[in-house]
Amino acid sequence: MKAQTQRITILQQQNELQQQLLENKQLQQRITLLFILLMSLAAVMLVQLYRKVRRSNLRLREMNKQLEYQSIRDPLTGLFNRRAMQEKMAKRHQEPQAEHCSLLLLDIDFFKHINDHYGHAAGDAVLVEISKRLSALCQENELVIRWGGEEFLLVLQRPQQTAIDDLCQTLLRKVSELPVEFEGKTIPVTISGGFINLPFAGVPEHQFNWERVLQVADMALYLSKVNGRNQINLVTGLRVPFSEAEPHLQSDLSGAIREQMIHYHTIAG
Ligand code: GH3
Ligand code: MG
Ligand code: MG
Repeated sequence: MKAQTQRITILQQQNELQQQLLENKQLQQRITLLFILLMSLAAVMLVQLYRKVRRSNLRLREMNKQLEYQSIRDPLTGLFNRRAMQEKMAKRHQEPQAEHCSLLLLDIDFFKHINDHYGHAAGDAVLVEISKRLSALCQENELVIRWGGEEFLLVLQRPQQTAIDDLCQTLLRKVSELPVEFEGKTIPVTISGGFINLPFAGVPEHQFNWERVLQVADMALYLSKVNGRNQINLVTGLRVPFSEAEPHLQSDLSGAIREQMIHYHTIAG
């Protein structure tokens, strides 16, 4: 009887132990499930966070690109601006052997009259249309810059003078032969220019830098204006040593021509 009671107690204890084990196992399973759930949730959140950061990075990069583009472009015409030229020339300055290029400064004739007669919006339309015509004439490795209000600067990469002359001739024709149409108005346009090579006549650029070379192009442009407009004056070389011509090249191109110090010719439209 005593032994039986003992067996029953043992069996009961065994049963309780089994029950305990079962409960433990269930608890373990629940914890594992909860852990998996938590990990999945964390993974989803991490993926979402990663995507968000990546999207924001892309957006920032895109905005940066846009800002970079805007900083070197003219908003009206989409052409390069002065800053782009300064950057290009700064890069050029760092090159050990900068390649030959040429500068063609252009200015629309009687543009103030176009504004006064046809309106400012028409003036803007002329600027946009002339920009397109100039761009169409230039190669991919050349720069078309809106240098000022109705002034353009072309940085050309054509070593042959004949190619330059052809371009000048075509350019004058392409600007003048077809009037600009704007809101039913027909606006005749001509342009004048001044041309020079960089470096000029083999003079090293540390001695005669692009800004000073451009000043000569500006004087050649002025000559085109006073000589009747719709033409380009090209300064192509020196007939005397640079030191002799230098004072005239600062501010008196007509003097340099009169004294036969430079090679130059005119292309008329
Ligand atoms: P010239 O033949 O000697 O070059 O005479 P011009 O009338 O073209 O030259 P001027 O420098 O007297 O006039 C330039 C005008 O260009 C004056 C300015 O109001 C105008 N202008 C400058 N920027 C813009 C612009 O973005 N849009 C318009 N519509 N006009 C502009
Ligand atoms: Mg002007
Ligand atoms: Mg003008």
